[in-house]
Amino acid sequence: MSEAPYRESVLDVTGTSVSPDVVTPTLVVTPRVVVNPAVVVTPTLVVNPTLVSLTDVVKTYPGPLTVLKDVSVEIGAGEEAAIVGPSGSGKTTMLSIMGILDRPTSGQVRIDGMDAGSLPEADRAQLRAEVIGFVFQQFFLLPTLSAVENVAEGMLYQGIRRHVRRQKALEALDRVGLSSRAHHLPGQLSGGEQQRVAIARAIAGGPRLLFADEPTGALDQTSGHMVVDYLLQIASEGTTVVVITHDQGLASRFSRQISLLDGQIVADSAVAEGDS
Ligand code: ADP
Ligand code: MG
Repeated sequence: MSEAPYRESVLDVTGTSVSPDVVTPTLVVTPRVVVNPAVVVTPTLVVNPTLVSLTDVVKTYPGPLTVLKDVSVEIGAGEEAAIVGPSGSGKTTMLSIMGILDRPTSGQVRIDGMDAGSLPEADRAQLRAEVIGFVFQQFFLLPTLSAVENVAEGMLYQGIRRHVRRQKALEALDRVGLSSRAHHLPGQLSGGEQQRVAIARAIAGGPRLLFADEPTGALDQTSGHMVVDYLLQIASEGTTVVVITHDQGLASRFSRQISLLDGQIVADSAVAEGDS
């Protein structure tokens, strides 16, 4: 039994029988008394690190129109979250800033601990290409390219060789259940299938972070539901997924909901009431 030597070493020091639970470090005579990691690991050590964060982000468009008003949020690696709010509440603006497509008027954007605001444009583009995938309401597929060619095209700027791009593209299509449609043109696919091709394109390069802006906005309910199934599946496989939607029902399928109203976060299911 593994506990026997432990008890003996305690007895060696004290001469009395002491329950291991109450042994203090001053009684420790051998390293093996304190090596059980299960005893020392606390939950705070296994919390996911922050992958993307906004701190006091303000966005003002010419007009002027202030669309984001002091938005602060942290999303951890491996999380799946929905940003939900009515049309015009600033969701797409928030995604553009989190995805470093656009710069805030003030405030900080961090991706994987890096201050994206302080990076030159070329580095921002590289960070975006390597770390982030995007899916939009309109699928933005090239009509003259097959599904696999559309997906492979998405990795053009990552310096991946052509035959590897094609291999990764086929794997990504397989992940969204479209292996049998790889050689179809977008016009030969249903809306839901086209959006799944767009998802494959977004994940083929292995991004850590996937953003989807109203991914079901152009789809009927059934194919929209299936698109969200795949997004949740991708999240369960380790990619951080952030979906933007005006649809409460869709948002409720994600484990975290962040509510945006008039440019401010008014609720966040990850923040307990009274925490903020
Ligand atoms: P949502 O995605 O929640 O519908 P948006 O972020 O797209 O909201 O837009 C929020 C507000 O900002 C809207 O009033 C919109 O008209 C305005 N807006 C968005 N983009 C721009 C822009 N590039 N220039 C000026 N106003 C913009
Ligand atoms: Mg929008």
